[in-house]
Amino acid sequence: MPLTDTLGRPLKNLRVSVTDRCNLRCQYCMPEEDYVWLSREDILQFEEISTLVDLFADLGVDKVRLTGGEPLLRRDLPELVRLLAGKTTLRDLALTTNGVLLAEHASALRAAGLHRVTVSLDTLRPERFRALTRRGTHAEVLDGLRAVRAAGFTGTKIDTVVTRGVNDDELADLIEFGKTVPAEVRFIEYMDVGGATRWSMESVVSRAEMLKSLERRYGHVEAIVEQSSAPADRYRLPDGTAFGIISSTTAPFCSACDRSRLTADGIWYLCLYAPTGVDLRRPLRAGASREELKALVTGRWRARADRGAEERLASRERKPLVRITELRKDPHLEMHTRGG
Ligand code: SAM
Repeated sequence: MPLTDTLGRPLKNLRVSVTDRCNLRCQYCMPEEDYVWLSREDILQFEEISTLVDLFADLGVDKVRLTGGEPLLRRDLPELVRLLAGKTTLRDLALTTNGVLLAEHASALRAAGLHRVTVSLDTLRPERFRALTRRGTHAEVLDGLRAVRAAGFTGTKIDTVVTRGVNDDELADLIEFGKTVPAEVRFIEYMDVGGATRWSMESVVSRAEMLKSLERRYGHVEAIVEQSSAPADRYRLPDGTAFGIISSTTAPFCSACDRSRLTADGIWYLCLYAPTGVDLRRPLRAGASREELKALVTGRWRARADRGAEERLASRERKPLVRITELRKDPHLEMHTRGG
């Protein structure tokens, strides 16, 4: 019997954050000048991550995505990939990265057994990239994307957060660029997650608006009908090019959400919007047996009733989820800690 929560959702998809540090400062994620970081001694060792992934796999997880912070800042990441790639229960082992360090690491990641790469890229214009990320490493990201292909990866994706007045005029350009990589582009609605302290509903470009804008450029955009728990709805242009839209803000998909997140210091979150998580590091380091840890995870998943994005949609006055003072008290509330 698969392990399911109170809404019948299975435990399938685990996002593992390997660091809370990042080498970009995207305005929608890390807009502040300084941050409270996780304690170094609390960061899980690769063997600890591997042990936790094993027990999650026993309970049904078959997809793991490494994320952060910026996962390529974690030293020797290919070693962790090698440990995880050896687990035959994992159907999918992917990495989400901002791509800045990818050219350096793509071959080693491929050799270590990583299946797929998703690169976050919001703009094709270097000066915009600098304004958006507060760093001047746009060319490195483009090199990283070239390196992904050269290393032999397929199924590459580009994730783009669309923000009104910032990059909403680049949707078609990004799709055209995606064809050359090649990579399928997924447009993400700007979300009011922890860390997005400048979020406002006016800045959100909805899925409906994105589709309208793309139809103006390409003509009819066809919805691809498929059974999937993936967050993106997929569409096809008249020339056959596919792209996705992740409409977490205006049309959330909580009812199909089989995702949970493990922070770099071993706190397990059952919803991106959840105020608290389950500490797995403490029992792990205190010597809890695999069966004890499995019982803890099973109990919490069975009791899961979270529908964070849907509840946000229902709230009347929508403003940033968490205030800066609260983020500083508990950095686990940050998107860059929780792993996007
Ligand atoms: N550093 C890696 C990267 O850039 O892909 C992994 C971590 S990052 C937090 C993961 C994803 O979350 C990125 O695609 C980022 O654009 C997205 N993200 C962060 N804040 C967001 C927000 N407020 N709304 C929507 N997506 C967001």
